[in-house]
Amino acid sequence: MTIQNLPQSEAAVSSAISSEGKTPSRASQPVENPYQMALRQFDCAIPFLNLKAGIIEMLKRCKRELTVTFPVKMDDGSVRIFTGYRVHHNTARGPSKGGIRYSPHVDLDEVRALAMWMTWKCAVVNIPYGGAKGGVICDPRQLSLHELEGLTRRYATEIAMLLGPDRDVPAPDMGTNPQIMAWIMDTYSMHHGYSVPAVVTGKPVNIGGSAGRLEATGRGVMFTVAEAFKTFGWQLAGAEVVVQGFGNVGSITALTAHQMGCKVVAVSDIEGGIYNPAGLNIPKLLQYVKEFRTVVGFSEAEQITNDELLALPCDILVPAATENQLTRVTAPRVRARKLVAEGANGPTTPEADAILKDMGLIVIPDILCNAGGVVVSYFEWVQDLQQLFWEEETVTDQLRRIMVRSFHDVYNRAKELNTTMRNAALVLGIGRVAEATMTRGLYP
Ligand code: NAD
Repeated sequence: MTIQNLPQSEAAVSSAISSEGKTPSRASQPVENPYQMALRQFDCAIPFLNLKAGIIEMLKRCKRELTVTFPVKMDDGSVRIFTGYRVHHNTARGPSKGGIRYSPHVDLDEVRALAMWMTWKCAVVNIPYGGAKGGVICDPRQLSLHELEGLTRRYATEIAMLLGPDRDVPAPDMGTNPQIMAWIMDTYSMHHGYSVPAVVTGKPVNIGGSAGRLEATGRGVMFTVAEAFKTFGWQLAGAEVVVQGFGNVGSITALTAHQMGCKVVAVSDIEGGIYNPAGLNIPKLLQYVKEFRTVVGFSEAEQITNDELLALPCDILVPAATENQLTRVTAPRVRARKLVAEGANGPTTPEADAILKDMGLIVIPDILCNAGGVVVSYFEWVQDLQQLFWEEETVTDQLRRIMVRSFHDVYNRAKELNTTMRNAALVLGIGRVAEATMTRGLYP
């Protein structure tokens, strides 16, 4: 059997933070409910697994969902009410793990989908966690540092009943960062009367964060891409890369690609995109973004829109912004020649998946491709619990080892089942969670 979409020759060889109203690529496209999308993906994997109806029903649902509404004192003396969520999808394989997103668009269904994808992701890379996610409806770019701290500490207090190193361990996601993780860790620690660093990951290194965590997701994306290139007999040096989103995941993916000898020809953020067919100077662009907080206006490039960016010719297209970017409208315009590597969670709708497959493109799915973040979060948690810290080199070597192993686990499953990498990853992840559930048995 061969993996679907593997080019024939190789097959033979191997067998935003967004402001409201400022999301042009969302507005111009059909937007699929992410939870419905996660359920449709789940349904596609189920025929490959021999599971009983009760288990299937259980895995489709989230174990617990908490919605909180809470006040925050603003700088002008007024009080604003915010809504936040924390959802645990499944804890059969260990404490729940998943990021916290600050975005004006976040809602309960988005958090449910992201929690479910975390469950499968942790199982695909075989680390001992279940899946969770959290979110607060807010635009962090419109809040002062003081307001952001107040909001974070109150939200952390509201969801504290779910948190704990053995229970639920948050991490950064869109719109949150190491400083926000530090405030959550401090708030939780103040409630307990002693420091509990293992309650969150993605913290600054000086309070128990791991070396290499900030870079982990983007590096993991490129380790996976590099392994795919090696496996399919393609040359990575000089490969043209396009990256949508220039936050934590997108910027580090672009930098790592640049360091690996690829030519990053275009990147974008919520404000728009930039394109230089000769290749962007990524270290210089990072300096520019530090100062201006956007890629737009960078002098050595042509300005383009996010929609134009998705349609650029390249070898590797990396959606690293948000959900619903490759849809039945945008997917037919994609001119990537080799791979779509999903840095973001849920960037490709099931319709787009089918279109990309027909175009002969391989999609390295989110639950494999961007798992580097949770892998190094796992390392951070282990280091915090042991109070024994690793060198960055050790972290990165161990990350590479797990990403390479997981790539082959998924790739081999895809060949065995004659299906796509996404379906194979889901079959692997769902299968491992189902197995753990059955081994534990039904209580009482
Ligand atoms: P971030 O907030 O650091 O960056 C998001 C970037 O995307 C920003 O540059 C923003 O301007 C841009 N953006 C937002 N909406 C956009 C749009 N509609 N069009 C174009 N650009 C847009 O967030 P991040 O942590 O880099 O997360 C990005 C994606 O990666 C999310 O889907 C997230 O769930 C996923 N992810 C993150 C991690 C992690 O460790 N941070 C791990 C795994 C997956």
